[in-house]
Amino acid sequence: MKCGFCGHEFAEEDGIKGCGACPGGCHSLHCPRCNYKNPLEPQFFKTIRSIFNATDKNKGEPT
Ligand SMILES: [Zn+2]
Ligand SMILES: [Zn+2]
Repeated sequence: MKCGFCGHEFAEEDGIKGCGACPGGCHSLHCPRCNYKNPLEPQFFKTIRSIFNATDKNKGEPT
C-alpha cells in the first residue's frame, strides 16, 4: 500500500499494526517511514466488493 502522507510504498506486513498508541486500539496501518496512520480497509469491504463483482459478471443470466 502507499502511505497517504509521505507517499512511501510498503507491503501491508511491513506496516506497523497494533502500535499501542492509538486510542481505542490500533485499527490502522502505520507507515514504517513516517508513522502516519493509514486507514486500513476492513476485510468485509473487500469481501462485499468481490461479491458485487461476481454478481456483475453474471448480470442478465438468470439462474
Ligand atoms: Zn509515510
Ligand atoms: Zn496505531
